[in-house]
Amino acid sequence: MAPESAPTALEMLEALRGPCPRVEPGTVWIVGAGPGDPGLLTLDALAGLLQADAIVHDALIDKRVLAMANPRAQLLFVGKRAGAPSTAQTEITQLLVNLAKEDLRVLRLKGGDPFVFGRGGEEMLALAESGIRFRVISGITAGIGGLASALIPATVRDVNQAVILVTAHAPGDTSGVDWRALAKTGQPLVLYMPTRNLQDISEVLIQAGVNPDMPAAAVASATIEGQQVVESSLMHIAKCMEVLDAASPVLVVIGEIVRVRQRILALLSAHSA
Ligand code: SAH
Repeated sequence: MAPESAPTALEMLEALRGPCPRVEPGTVWIVGAGPGDPGLLTLDALAGLLQADAIVHDALIDKRVLAMANPRAQLLFVGKRAGAPSTAQTEITQLLVNLAKEDLRVLRLKGGDPFVFGRGGEEMLALAESGIRFRVISGITAGIGGLASALIPATVRDVNQAVILVTAHAPGDTSGVDWRALAKTGQPLVLYMPTRNLQDISEVLIQAGVNPDMPAAAVASATIEGQQVVESSLMHIAKCMEVLDAASPVLVVIGEIVRVRQRILALLSAHSA
């Protein structure tokens, strides 16, 4: 009798969850990997990693996530590394199209959710234009999951009715984030890519009427080893976050929801005393 071969990882996954979608040759999956912790991957993202022949990924993908990939998969890095400019978006989309035309099973793996400041929309359009079939696998965006891992809930009953995810473009630049209008909503702001312009943004928000003492926090490397959280006020957050490791991804949140963290930490320490 022939010895039974060990089940593959994909077979084990299917034994638990039932049939997984297949990455067909010549197609692309646009997949969100979540904020970092491999535990926050979706089961479909894992199924994609186990099947793909080529994985085109960004800088923010944790090594442990890539380690789950099919060992025969080609790993193609297209992110920003140590100050070097990132690969141009047109080159990335061309690469995806070319790989699919080679009849490979392609995974485009992005940090967080592909459609939240991730250019997933552009890539989906480019694939559609070239007639390449694709599938989208959502991921947990850092602005929600990363806050949660810092004990900051995105919404709190009676505190906020909306949460604004915003990319931290400089006030007055052509990309046109209207920080004054955002200030008037009174709702918490979650800033992606905040490092460069935070001081200017804080000043504009204060001029527009936000209380300078409004709680604010910066969360670096959320959900992964070395996660750091700095709490301060709107007025001081830009200065305070200078202590964070400059190479880590960081989010800034401004709003009353930040207070929940302090309350929880105080309660937990009272219980453990
Ligand atoms: N598509 C991603 C965002 C890409 S933009 C998502 O949905 O999360 C990159 C920015 O995301 C970083 O500059 C940082 O502001 C934020 N970010 C991503 N991962 C993070 C993490 N683990 N911790 C803190 N911020 C993170």
